[in-house]
Amino acid sequence: MPGVADDLRRLIAEKGPISVAQYIEISNAHYYATRDPLGVAGDFTTAPEISQMFGELLGLWCLVQWRQMGAPDPINIVEAGPGRGTLMADFLRAAGQDLAFTQALRLYLIETSPTLRQAQKDKLHIEPVWCDTLDDVPEGPMLFVANEFFDALPIQQFERTLEGWCERLIDVEGDKFCFVVSDKTEANEFPDAAVGEVIETCPAGMAVAQSLGERIAAHGGGALIIDYGYAKTEPGDTLQAVKNHRYHSVLADPGEVDLTAHVNFEQLYQAINEAGANVEIFVTQRNFSLNLGIEQRAEILSAEATPEQVEEIKSALNLLIGEDEMGNLFKVLVVNNETTC
Ligand code: SAH
Repeated sequence: MPGVADDLRRLIAEKGPISVAQYIEISNAHYYATRDPLGVAGDFTTAPEISQMFGELLGLWCLVQWRQMGAPDPINIVEAGPGRGTLMADFLRAAGQDLAFTQALRLYLIETSPTLRQAQKDKLHIEPVWCDTLDDVPEGPMLFVANEFFDALPIQQFERTLEGWCERLIDVEGDKFCFVVSDKTEANEFPDAAVGEVIETCPAGMAVAQSLGERIAAHGGGALIIDYGYAKTEPGDTLQAVKNHRYHSVLADPGEVDLTAHVNFEQLYQAINEAGANVEIFVTQRNFSLNLGIEQRAEILSAEATPEQVEEIKSALNLLIGEDEMGNLFKVLVVNNETTC
């Protein structure tokens, strides 16, 4: 569909080069609104689509957290970027063993794509409230989960030039998109980086983290933020495009590819902490899952499974926690405020 590329060309012709963040925002809004990108037939696969065990573990963590908070009623359960609703379906089945929890929970899904909202509605047995942003969720005790949400949010990029750090912008040459740099320079914490180095910031992600931190500090709760990313701010161009499970050019086919960037966990951590909430731990998906008993869960599932299913469970477990698979690549930021400060 040429729609988004043409819209972007028109915008650039009218206003001049646009920021990388604006390019990603427009591209991803169209991308997610017009398809279900997940699974073998889609463009990429995620942990909840690999195994039910993933959502179950998150559900049980939240159930335990809720009990430690003194079982507040109501409790806002919030998922950002719920995709097909698979994680939440598994979450609710596992945590729903506690009837009081089921009765207390109010489910809010932060999702902008109408196509995925429909998929979530079809998947879930309870009626959620959909919100465009966290700001639309009512204040109150909250348990928040997000898997591969922050990596989909628009980032800004800055490039070290001979003059200093300049914002990277996107322009059009002929009918092709290309990177250019702004003629204004900006200061940052890497004044001595080599020419050509790139640094990224994610204002949209920081805004969510700040609001999340403020809400949890004020009303109690917790959060699990799961994504791939880096633990310390450092230069690096991590913007990538994926289509049909393969890397694709970032500048070709906007709106038809999944644009993502690695998550800067240090900045997320700082935003949450400065807002007053307590970041308990930052850990690999492997260690997080092992600590919550994923191997025992796999054994229980295998005990009632056919030999083929046993193989599937084994392979899913390896994908989720294998050191060379998602196990070390994906990290979990755990926020935990059992009581209000
Ligand atoms: N968590 C799911 C899906 C990850 S894909 C899983 O693990 O399978 C990213 C999800 O975030 C999609 O549901 C997408 O529609 C949603 N999303 C992307 N950008 C968003 C934004 N700015 N606001 C709200 N949701 C967004």
